[in-house]
Amino acid sequence: MVKAIVGANWGDEGKGKITDMLAEKSDIIVRFQGGSNAGHTIINGYGKFALHLLPSGVFYNHTTSVIGNGVALNIPYLINEIKGITDRGVPTPKVLVSDRAQILMPYHVDFDTYEEARLAGNSFGSTKSGIAPFYSDKYAKIGFQVSELFDEVSLKEKVQRVVEYKNVLLEHLYHKPLLDAEEVFKLMLSYRDMIEPFVTDTSSFLHDAIAQGKNILLEGQLGALKDPDHGIYPMVTSSSTLAAYGAIGAGIPASEIKDVVTVVKAYSSAVGGGAFVSEIFGEEGDELRRRGGDGGEFGATTGRPRRMGWFDAVASRYGVRMQGTSEVALTVLDVLGYLDEIPMCVGYEIDGVITKNFPTTNKLEKAKPILKVFPGWKSEIRGITNYNELPENCRKYIEAIEEELQCQITMVSNGPGRHEIIYRVSSFKK
Ligand code: GDP
Repeated sequence: MVKAIVGANWGDEGKGKITDMLAEKSDIIVRFQGGSNAGHTIINGYGKFALHLLPSGVFYNHTTSVIGNGVALNIPYLINEIKGITDRGVPTPKVLVSDRAQILMPYHVDFDTYEEARLAGNSFGSTKSGIAPFYSDKYAKIGFQVSELFDEVSLKEKVQRVVEYKNVLLEHLYHKPLLDAEEVFKLMLSYRDMIEPFVTDTSSFLHDAIAQGKNILLEGQLGALKDPDHGIYPMVTSSSTLAAYGAIGAGIPASEIKDVVTVVKAYSSAVGGGAFVSEIFGEEGDELRRRGGDGGEFGATTGRPRRMGWFDAVASRYGVRMQGTSEVALTVLDVLGYLDEIPMCVGYEIDGVITKNFPTTNKLEKAKPILKVFPGWKSEIRGITNYNELPENCRKYIEAIEEELQCQITMVSNGPGRHEIIYRVSSFKK
């Protein structure tokens, strides 16, 4: 059975924790898009970890971790990340890398950095991990698949061609040092030696695993609002963050995804630029940022302070819908226990018209939040494991979110730890 775990919002919803938790009962965990540009924070018996490229299931002995074809594969980064966890006592994980995954090269990182500098004030707030140049090359058909590393003759010829093209941009657009084809080729051969032990036809592997009835998790990175088609373009990432893409990026048929768990955060946070309708500022925002997540809302990759906001029901419902959600996991609810009142954005006002539909970016930029205020519960809810033991106002807040999302909430996360979760049988009916 294949289950996807994806985000409804701007990322950082706590997908890592939910995946790590569900991985306990899974056989295989697959990354299907993105690269090392976003991080998952996971807390378990070995300590606290920020993973970027490895799937969140690497901490269990019984799981296989798959880097799917849809991922931007930074080879030295992957090797270092594996070393980083094994150095801290985690048993060597079983990792398979798709022979169709493409390779993120150091020049992608350079181009990302140069382009952000060129755009200056109009930049996209990239993490400069090379993701946008990587996916541009993939679709321009000048990227390199892992499988291409194993044919030296055609590899050398293609490297020549690609370097020639890149050097025109380096010389005339960015005025930066040029690439040397021989050096790039040699680097690729060293990458080949590093990655060879992991390379597998992962699509066939997953096909067989599905036939054997194995439990497979597809782990998404970022959230629906960062999807290049359906998100806040152009302040988006460069690969699809939707569960539907999980099939493509893992190499399995779409019809195999039987369950979509969408992770929704009990308040909003975002990194980078772009419209953020329910954003809050000043001390109100600072306090939520300080108290948020586990030890504050700061980027797992960059350490950047995240932008903060109240729960945005319009954006979240859209995210839940676009993900094709079968069940919602609501996270970081414990963080809100300090508030007397909890505002929720339940509509957008755009040019005098109130809507509950998430619009395109040009309209989104004009949207003003319609806030509804809920009474707080003013208590610590960590440690509670039974839904009915949650304070009444807390349950009312959850049920109001469920109504807004038009989807059942089956899990409520009330702490960063692996077992800090309340399972719930929802009585929600559409
Ligand atoms: P991801 O990219 O979606 O995996 O999200 P991140 O890992 O970047 O951000 C989530 C942060 O919230 C991490 O620091 C988690 O440890 C933390 N976290 C996850 N669930 C909860 C929760 O229910 N309560 C609290 N307080 N923190 C949580």
